[in-house]
Amino acid sequence: MTKKPSLVVFDLDYTLWPFWVDTHVDPPFQKSRTSEIQGATQLLDLFGINLYFRYTEIYPGSKVTHFQRLSQQSGIPLCQMLFFDDENRNIYDVSKLGVTCILVPNGMNLSLLDRGLEAFAPS
Ligand SMILES: [Mg+2]
Repeated sequence: MTKKPSLVVFDLDYTLWPFWVDTHVDPPFQKSRTSEIQGATQLLDLFGINLYFRYTEIYPGSKVTHFQRLSQQSGIPLCQMLFFDDENRNIYDVSKLGVTCILVPNGMNLSLLDRGLEAFAPS
């Protein structure tokens, strides 16, 4: 049986959705948007994406901190995680933690997910 990651982590802007939530988006959700964190949380809710996620770490700052918190919250070692992001600098930083990282050039899709699973556990 193929080894699977214990936790799969997705960036939001330009990975799960094709814009920056803090600068590019307009109504209908603008009415209740008071910060990028609330906006992002609301979009996850509107899209129904949050149903599929156990942890959310949404705030500005280093992804390294996000991953350290995720590991602490979940008890899952960093080497058991798979991460998708559209920014090279995040891939670079998070790779150094021992997380398997996949660059997402044009939004998340199924073949990238397959590529990530293959990179995590080469067959
Ligand atoms: Mg992004």
